Amino acid sequence: MINLETPKKFRGIVNQAHQVAAEMLRPNSRRYDLTEHAYPKELDMLAAMVDGIGAAGQGSGAGAAGVRRAEADGDADRVRNGSNMSSVLSIMEMCWGDVGLLLSMPRQGLGNSAIASVADAEQLERFAGVWAGMAITEPGCGSDSASIRTTARLDGDDYVINGEKIFVTAGGRADAIVVWATLDRSAGRAAIKSFVVRKDTPGMTVERLDHKLGIRSSDTATIRFEDCRVPKENLLGNPEVDTGKGFAGVMQTFDNTRPLVAAMAVGCARAALELTRSLLADAGVEVDYDRPVHVQSSAAATFLQMESDWEAAYLLTLQAAWMADNGRPNSLQASMAKAKAGRVGNDITLRCVELGGSLGYSEHELLEKWARDSKILDIFEGTQQIQQLIVARRLLNKTSAELR
Ligand SMILES: Cc1cc2nc3c(=O)[nH]c(=O)nc-3n(C[C@H](O)[C@H](O)[C@H](O)COP(=O)(O)OP(=O)(O)OC[C@H]3O[C@@H](n4cnc5c(N)ncnc54)[C@H](O)[C@@H]3O)c2cc1C
Repeated sequence: MINLETPKKFRGIVNQAHQVAAEMLRPNSRRYDLTEHAYPKELDMLAAMVDGIGAAGQGSGAGAAGVRRAEADGDADRVRNGSNMSSVLSIMEMCWGDVGLLLSMPRQGLGNSAIASVADAEQLERFAGVWAGMAITEPGCGSDSASIRTTARLDGDDYVINGEKIFVTAGGRADAIVVWATLDRSAGRAAIKSFVVRKDTPGMTVERLDHKLGIRSSDTATIRFEDCRVPKENLLGNPEVDTGKGFAGVMQTFDNTRPLVAAMAVGCARAALELTRSLLADAGVEVDYDRPVHVQSSAAATFLQMESDWEAAYLLTLQAAWMADNGRPNSLQASMAKAKAGRVGNDITLRCVELGGSLGYSEHELLEKWARDSKILDIFEGTQQIQQLIVARRLLNKTSAELR
């Protein structure tokens, strides 16, 4: 039988994450939205607490750093809920509090997830405790990540990196950036590797921070690399250019991070649904689960439809995380979860603004902010259109050259 309750071993971490969201993130949400680029100093204490929980072995972190594929343990029949599941569950709670603040959590960046996904044991130890952003996007390359132009040339014991990266989340604040660069542009996707570049490395410059529609408490940086020398041990994964294997190494990260972004959308949408339900109740609109939708008010029917969409996104997100925890290939499910949750998150938060009327649109409530914050969750880590493309390729068994 399928059990959809929160696994017992994660109830503690989920409750803790919810408490933090309610008592620390939500109360600071509007303030850091209005003071874009101001560092949310409250997060330092929170990050220390999350580190403490991780060190005590009680949880796997409230963010990306906790995510790592299940190691083979020789017991193929044993199913488990591991760090992917605990991360998506706690991220949902934290994003019920505030998405931008969750993205600003020290040591919980998307670069940390990349390190957790593909680093070897020695690198895991060396980069433990580092806060890492992730730099893939360039001025001429977004959705088509195979066309990146940043180069990494081996010179003695170092790689020399040259190029420009844009829209790097936590790029200004993180201690290190995981940079995607090509070893040989003529070799195509197979030559794209990721490198951990520490912030103090000469040749790496944070050029500017961008102003944005939403997640304003999260900094988004443009970073330039000019003859930036990185020890060759900082390449994550296999340094060989294996054209037979293609993009597999670096792309593996997305199978772990897309469910996390889906979880952010699910958490933010739940916040909007909960507030809308109470605004509707104040206005005398009753949502009745025992009566057919067509005999209820239009507002109640809309609410019920949003809730069912939300439930589908939630379940797809859990499925993608569960598969990752159990060592099962989950690229299809990760993209399905991201596509569904990203779209549903945008729809729900915007329709909640609509149902709230002037209360929804004004800054009296956080509804308008959640509508702005959720938009990015349908864009970064692969847009809605790109997720649909990946799903179609997988279902139709087409290559990226056959279906683009
Ligand atoms: C706030 C913010 C934070 C970000 N954080 C990071 C980060 O930490 N690290 C990082 O590397 N990047 C980050 N990004 C970049 C983000 O991942 C890209 O914006 C995203 O991948 C889309 O790329 P693009 O903006 O170049 O759009 P494009 O790729 O130019 O796409 C433009 C539009 O065309 C559509 N499109 C493109 N190709 C196809 C196709 N084949 N079929 C159908 N439609 C298509 C897209 O879906 C989109 O709607 C961030 C962006 C923002 C705004």
